[in-house]
Order: sequence, then structure tokens, then C-alpha cells
Amino acid sequence: MSKLQALKNFRFPNVFILILVVFISCALLICINFFTIKILSANRAYVNGESHYSKGQKDASRHLITYLFTKNPAQWKLYLEELKVPQGDGIARVTLLKAGDNKIARKGFLTGRNNENDLDDIIWLFENFKNVSFLSKAINEWGQGDQLIFELFVIGQQINAKIKHNILTTEDQKKYLKKISSISDRLTINERNFSNTLGEGTRKIKDLLIITNIFFILVIVCSVCLYYSIMVKRLLVSKKETEVKNENLVIVNRELDRFVYSASHDLRSPITSLKGLIEITALEDDVQQVRNYLQMMHQSLARQDQFISDIIDYSKNKRKQIIMEPVSLKELCNEAILQLMHIENANKIKFTQELLVDNIESDGLRLKIIINNLLSNAIKYADCNKPEMFITIKTYFSEGLNKLEVTDNGIGIHDDYKSKIFDMYFGTNKNKGSGLGLYIVKEAVENIKGDISVFSENNVGSKFIVTIPNSYAV
Ligand code: ADP
Repeated sequence: MSKLQALKNFRFPNVFILILVVFISCALLICINFFTIKILSANRAYVNGESHYSKGQKDASRHLITYLFTKNPAQWKLYLEELKVPQGDGIARVTLLKAGDNKIARKGFLTGRNNENDLDDIIWLFENFKNVSFLSKAINEWGQGDQLIFELFVIGQQINAKIKHNILTTEDQKKYLKKISSISDRLTINERNFSNTLGEGTRKIKDLLIITNIFFILVIVCSVCLYYSIMVKRLLVSKKETEVKNENLVIVNRELDRFVYSASHDLRSPITSLKGLIEITALEDDVQQVRNYLQMMHQSLARQDQFISDIIDYSKNKRKQIIMEPVSLKELCNEAILQLMHIENANKIKFTQELLVDNIESDGLRLKIIINNLLSNAIKYADCNKPEMFITIKTYFSEGLNKLEVTDNGIGIHDDYKSKIFDMYFGTNKNKGSGLGLYIVKEAVENIKGDISVFSENNVGSKFIVTIPNSYAV
């Protein structure tokens, strides 16, 4: 198989699939990065919010303790002010858990001193990821923290009531201080767990993001490389095709030049000899000699006729499309023999036909050209010195193919000429033919994707075997 054929036979994957893969990968990459950045940004906002929550709770505890011991109403106010921060976050958490009004949740988060610009991301993350492991754990810690904030609030109310009624004892102060400290310690644990859980989630998301980014970038790079290599291969194939077409054009051009030169020469030569013969006939008085000249003129014209008919065959073979049709080999052989009977000595030859294959599916025109030329050669190159001249035509089916065999006991082909007989204008006897016959036969055989072989021995005879494929898809 030629390199070009191998390249042509290579099945290219559909490049549109590759372009689609690249587009989808890019789109997914953009989406994944967008949402990951959104999640990470929301996580950061939560950690930020937690620090406000923690600070608020600690400041509230501090102001409550100061109030507990100083009974200064300003401290009570400050305590209430600071306690609002974790309480606001708590309201937002409860509202979002119940899938309540987002406005209330926003208000709660704002009270929790969260930045207004972060609120959308914070609410979005809560709503969409509240059941995802890391956030659900963090929300759980948050809930426990809110419970402790409520306890702090209740203690605050109790302290305030006792101060207001002036019944706060030293014992109470010690008891409340202990309680506030205990709440503060437990809240610190919850707050730390909250931050750690979110931090863990953030790290996991970051790792996932790196992996997915690497994966999609690899998919894109591989697809682009594959696309590039396919395009390069396609370019190579089309370059090779163009080169082959160019080479064929050069060959055809050269052939055409040679053809035109030889055709004009060969068409003129019988005319020249005819003119000469006419001139000498005009001067001749001897009737017998005139008859001889006329015979020679006839031969010249026959040669011209043969040559023109060869040119027509050549042209038909080159231009006409292959048409698959039912063909009778028997009919083609009989027609050819009848047409060729005018050739000198044809009537002295014994024709034998052994046609085991008759009706086949092939190109009628090409088969006619092949049979006519092989038979006309067998007649033209018959050996008149042999006591009995014969031509045998056989058709048979062998190795899955139809075969046509033309055998004669003519003059045979000299070993030196065997390799040249299929060349354009090669002929050993210019009086007998144009040298185009076997060249046209070879082209016709190639057109029907068949094969031709020759076996010949000088002075013994020749055998031409043509292989005709069963059916040839055009
Ligand atoms: P031409 O028109 O000269 O016959 P062909 O191409 O048909 O041209 O044949 C080329 C040459 O091959 C002939 O000149 C002849 O020498 C040789 N040749 C072809 N067929 C036969 C045959 N059956 N017996 C002997 N020689 C043959």
C-alpha cells in the first residue's frame, strides 16, 4: 500500500467533537472556578462574621461582669449592645434554617456586624450547602453557641433584675461570675470548632479546585494537541494528493505531447505514400503494375483507417466513464472476429472458442477494446509459415475471478520486446499497426481494475490472459 493510500485510509476522529470537548471543558472550568471562588469568598465571610460574633460575646461578657460588680447602667447598656451581635447572627441562622424571609436573615447578619457586600454570598452558601458535611457541622457548632448566648442573656436579665431590686448579694455575684466564665469558656470552644470546620472545608475545596483545574486543563491541552495533529495530517494528505495530481498532470502532458507528435506523423505517412503511389501510377501503362500500386494504396488507407480507429479507442478509453452493465463475452468475441475478418490471412486461421463464462457484469466498452485488440494482434502476427494457424479464445472462472485467454501460434514475441509491448507507440512492424493497441488494452484493463499478463515464445506463439473482476464499484 502506498504512503498516500495509508494516510488516506487513516480514519480521522471528528474534529468537531474535539472542538466541542474544548468548549465544554472551558465552560465547566469557568463555572467550577466561579462557584469555587464564590464558596471560598462566603467561607471567608463566615470566618470574619465568627470573629465579630466572638468579639461581641466576649465584650458582652466583660460588660456584664463589670455591671455585676459596679452596677453601672452604662455597662448594662454596653452589654446589651454587644450581645446584639451574636444574637443577630442567631436570628439569621434560625430564619435560614426554617427557609424563612431572607430580609430578616439579612437584617440579622447586619446586626452581627457582617459586611453588607458579603451578605449575598453568606446567604447563598447557607441555603445551598447547609447539608454539606463541613457547613452542617459548623452550623451545628453555631447553634450550640447560640444556645449559650441565650443562657448569657437569661443570666444578664437575672442580674439586672436583682440589681434593679437591690437584692444582689456577694454570693450571687460569685455565682453569676462563675456562670458567665463557664459560658464564655464553652463558647470559645464552639467558636474555635466553627472556625476550624470552615477552615477544613475551605482547604478541601481548594484541593478539589486544583485537581479539577488540572484535569480540565489537561483535557483542553490534549484535545488541542489532537486537533492540531489531525489538521497537520490532513494538510499532509492534501499536499501529497496535490503532488500526485501534479505528477500525473506532468505525465499526461508529456504523453499528450508525444501523442500529438506521433499522431500527426503517423497520420501523414500513409498520405505521403499514397501521393507518391498516385504519381507513379499516373505514369504507369502496365495494367498489372497499376493493380499492384492500387493494392499498395489500399494497404496505406487500411493502415490509416486502423490508426484512426486506434485513436478513437484511445480517446473513448480515456474519457468515457466506467459503466457497469451485463455483458456477453460470447457476443463480444463473435462480433470482434467478424469485424477482423478483413485482415490479411484472417480467413486462413482456425478460430476455436471455449467460453465457460459468458454473461458477466462489467464495462462493455473496455471489454470490446480489449478483445478487439488482442484478437487483431493474434491475426496480424500469425505465422503464415506454419501449416496450420490457429487462435483459441477461452473464458473461465478461476480463483474467484473471470479470465479471458487469447492464444495463438503466431510469430511470438522476442524476449527483448516483452517488457515494451505495452508502451505507447511501441511496435515492431509499423506496416502492421500504430503501436497503440496494447497500450490502450493495458489502460482499459486498469480502468476495470483488472490485470493482464503475457506468455510468449519467439516463433512458437503467444498467450494473453486478462483478469476481469466480478463486479467493479465505480
Ligand atoms: P501494433 O499496433 O504495432 O500491433 P500493439 O501495441 O498492439 O501495436 O503491439 C505492440 C507489439 O507487440 C507489436 O508490434 C508486436 O510486435 C507485439 N505483439 C502484440 N501482440 C502480438 C501477438 N499476438 N503475437 C506476436 N507479437 C505480438
